Amino acid sequence: MPKEPDFIHDLNEAQQRAVRHTEGPLLIVAGAGSGKTRVLTYRIAYLIQQQKAAPNDILALTFTNKAAKEMKERIQQLIGDEARRLWMGTFHSVFSKILRFEAEKIGFTSNYSIYDTDDSKNAIKQLLRENNYDPKEIRPRTIQRLISDAKNELIHPDHYQEKFVHSTLDDITANIYGQYVERLKHNNAMDFDDLLVKPIELFQQHEGVLEKYQDRFKYILIDEYQDTNHAQYKVTNMLARKYKNLCVVGDDAQSIYSFRGADIRNILDFKSDYEEAVEIPLEQNYRSTKAILKAADSIIKRNDSQLNKTLWTDNDMGDAITVLDNYDERDEANRVANYIQELKARKGYGYNDFAVLYRTNYQSRVYEETFRRKGVPYQLVGGLSFYQRKEIKDVLAYLTLLINPDDDTNLIRIINEPSRGIGNKSLHDLMAQARAGNQSLWRVLENVGEIDLYKPAEKSVREFVSMINDLKKDLKNGRKLINITKKLLEQSGYMKSLVEENSPKSMTRRENILELQNAISYFEKNNNNPSLSSFLQEISLITDTDKYDEEKPAVTMMTVHAAKGLEFPVVFVVGLEEELFPVGSRDNEEVNIEEERRLFYVAITRAEEVLFFSHCRSRYKYGEEQRKRRSRFLDEVSPDVVRTETGASIKQNSNNLNGDQKESSDSGSTKIEYDWKKPLYKKKNRSSNTTRIYYDNPDEDPFQVGARVEHNVFGPGKIISRSGQGEKTKVVIYFKERGRKTLMLRVAKLQVI
Ligand code: ATP
Ligand code: MG
Repeated sequence: MPKEPDFIHDLNEAQQRAVRHTEGPLLIVAGAGSGKTRVLTYRIAYLIQQQKAAPNDILALTFTNKAAKEMKERIQQLIGDEARRLWMGTFHSVFSKILRFEAEKIGFTSNYSIYDTDDSKNAIKQLLRENNYDPKEIRPRTIQRLISDAKNELIHPDHYQEKFVHSTLDDITANIYGQYVERLKHNNAMDFDDLLVKPIELFQQHEGVLEKYQDRFKYILIDEYQDTNHAQYKVTNMLARKYKNLCVVGDDAQSIYSFRGADIRNILDFKSDYEEAVEIPLEQNYRSTKAILKAADSIIKRNDSQLNKTLWTDNDMGDAITVLDNYDERDEANRVANYIQELKARKGYGYNDFAVLYRTNYQSRVYEETFRRKGVPYQLVGGLSFYQRKEIKDVLAYLTLLINPDDDTNLIRIINEPSRGIGNKSLHDLMAQARAGNQSLWRVLENVGEIDLYKPAEKSVREFVSMINDLKKDLKNGRKLINITKKLLEQSGYMKSLVEENSPKSMTRRENILELQNAISYFEKNNNNPSLSSFLQEISLITDTDKYDEEKPAVTMMTVHAAKGLEFPVVFVVGLEEELFPVGSRDNEEVNIEEERRLFYVAITRAEEVLFFSHCRSRYKYGEEQRKRRSRFLDEVSPDVVRTETGASIKQNSNNLNGDQKESSDSGSTKIEYDWKKPLYKKKNRSSNTTRIYYDNPDEDPFQVGARVEHNVFGPGKIISRSGQGEKTKVVIYFKERGRKTLMLRVAKLQVI
């Protein structure tokens, strides 16, 4: 075995242990900034340097493509260029690649299309129409979400039909789900969920294929493990079953995706799934000041469901956290901009050292305006991604058609874009023909002479078909992608119609298309095998966070969700108001306060040196000024590490808002104490005729996170989080058959199973 590399000394003792423990399952549950991601990175470099594995024997799964890229670059610095051959990326990107190799085994071709949320929504809308539902009444998004949940819980359409017959919506979903799966298959397309679920199907049906990948990935590593969902958990377990060299790192306190089915229990179950698992805690935080860590700790300990962890730091105490008390959102953005300028001048920070974090995307608008006005450069992460813009999706739909003509959804998107006289009526006739003959729309277009179509439309169809066929020929002959793209933009009349429109909007669209051409040229120059299919698959998986550029001298603005795993010297967490952060309304059963609190914990722990919280006393909503209460989270932060600064404009406006505010800041400091020993309430369960006693003592109350329970309507499920106390205790339960529900413990008739 080669001598140990010097880089091992970049790590502390516990981190070194984790890196050296190469064989067998390893679990690292540790707090923010304790070097979990660093351990994964070094561990991979170590495995290769110690010749335990070749780079392409290692599979590393990260939460964003950007995280994967950074990790790869760091490993390259440690061990050299070999790192390029690692299998590293998000679950979606890695498994889409595997599916490209194996697609034929499950009835797809390697050129399958990937549908983003919008595409799949369109497909569902189309199906609703075909089934005579009105998409205005039955929202395609709702059906999409129910189908997505079912897929991620690995519920097959047939079983959906058997189990979910409780509401009209369930009936409709049951009806549409099966057709949707069929339709996608027909279109040779997979949606985002399929990229996780189809590999499971593949591995279940083809033992040999599973074994091939088990042998290939001798070492598997997963970052942000707390946010994996059931399907992700299952597929990695399948792959790791043979060698059991599975290393997962995560922090239960940072689990913020339960709305997407992420299951905190995956961390907790790891130990029972792998009895020989070794657990190594990391306790030293290298990221933040003591004040920031204290604030974070005071927040997260309010949650009932946390694993026990220690986190300390050698770093300085640092500055107290400043709470900016603002009049409204303009006042807030102004003050944040002023602080940025001031800290930059006084302490020498660069613009890229700052981040503004908010709960929801729309909050960025006022910041954008203010920063622009004040000359603060910024980069916005999130919002509509480049590849989701209409014109970009149109061009990509054309390109998709060249390799996957059976993809009706993409074909429908551009058949009359730009307008070429194939109107709704003609399209309807063509579609009807396709359905009747169980053919793809493209096949019908190719044989358009066989149906009775409005003559001018028929002529357009012929021209369209011959244009696409011509481009397909070019592609076959190995013509460059960029040239094919230019030709299609010209021949389809797409560019011309934008030029003719000559509006500011159409000009922007043109520029975006030119930018897409740049991306295509770049891809062709920088890939050994630049096929159209790999280009399309790569870009369909680009997410907003991937665009974020650390080096750019600009303030970063993003949601807290997008900031996971990142760090910044100075962080502003803004909009800390009730009904904004935490999101939703006080009485809304669906709001999971513990998850909101974890989200706040994630926000705080992004900060290295300086942290600001801010809230507004009023905010515009639907064109009206509304009063806002400060977030309860502000009252939960340990008071000795914060100081409040009231904005000048509040004093000017004090007569109309002060009274209200006083009331709300007082209410947060009330402390309620419980007598743990006393049963809080008794309830007679009529259906089973047993009396159960509810306690507020976590030691005696069986309805803790992780408990498996049965509900008399929803059936069996698992408690995934719990919030509130006493009579107000709420639990979020993932019901096997009914998905996620939030219930009041007092009224829910639950039984531990
Ligand atoms: P999160 O929970 O937010 O994802 P994490 O546990 O993954 O955090 P890292 O991002 O790996 O933490 O590390 C936090 C910071 O501390 C990084 O800047 C990292 O380089 C630094 N760091 C980690 N370990 C050490 C160490 N032993 N010596 C010096 N710096 C370290
Ligand atoms: Mg990390």
